[in-house]
Amino acid sequence: MLPSTADEPPRRAPISRRGFLTASAIAAIAASVGGSLLEGDVAHAAWGGYSNGNIPTSVLEPIPWDTVRILRRDACAALVTLNEAFRSSFGHNITINDGYRDYDEQVRAKKKYGDKAAEPGTSNHGWAIAIDVANTSRVQIGYSHPIYLWLKAHGPAYGWIHPQWAEPGDPGGPDEAWHWEFNGTFTGGPSPAQPEVGSMEAIVKVPSGVIVHLRYGGKTDFGSQQQYNDFRMQVNTLRQYGATDLLPLPELSAVPGVTWETFTFLAQYIGAPTA
Ligand SMILES: [Zn+2]
Repeated sequence: MLPSTADEPPRRAPISRRGFLTASAIAAIAASVGGSLLEGDVAHAAWGGYSNGNIPTSVLEPIPWDTVRILRRDACAALVTLNEAFRSSFGHNITINDGYRDYDEQVRAKKKYGDKAAEPGTSNHGWAIAIDVANTSRVQIGYSHPIYLWLKAHGPAYGWIHPQWAEPGDPGGPDEAWHWEFNGTFTGGPSPAQPEVGSMEAIVKVPSGVIVHLRYGGKTDFGSQQQYNDFRMQVNTLRQYGATDLLPLPELSAVPGVTWETFTFLAQYIGAPTA
């Protein structure tokens, strides 16, 4: 229920119940418009021009239910969807002991765990596409744990796989039931909650610095970053009052920047005017 005592309407059109394009979806569109962001072995190759363990946290995404751990955006988006399915089976979120590990952390892990840890600069934790999964007491899971078995059955549909080297007895690496990696194949299914193209919205930052909310048939230019923050706060307040049809808006720092070319494409894609 919306608060009935509100004596003035929101200053801008309320956000509808349609789905927002995630930052990773926008990045994929940008890649398809602007060139080869992702080519070849998506998950296990360098990306973004960064080196392993030296990825700026500004291009990574916090795992929403975890206060510390971060991942590459597409890996995080896939994990969020996987976690929805997980939660309906287990009644709680996936407990994660580790995600992105920067180079210094990899050096420390190598010192601490020896052969159990990857050579610094080679871990998929350093590419921000690996997680270590634990039980609710933060103890690493083993191969007979229900969480491992569930992830083996359901993870691959969301692009989250248990790598061969970590399988029990595999000579290619240590036995690590807890270590899972994103292989880049998740493209939006199989979550039943995925909205169809045509009911999508996006919030992006264009090269002039203006934040724009694109939606079918219309768009809103936020004249300043402060206006966007105010609008976001309004939405959050309404959500606190129980407005479940409003989607949470990304923080200003998480609004993806796009080129004009990508912006034009996105606007056409969603059905919003470009001018
Ligand atoms: Zn790991």
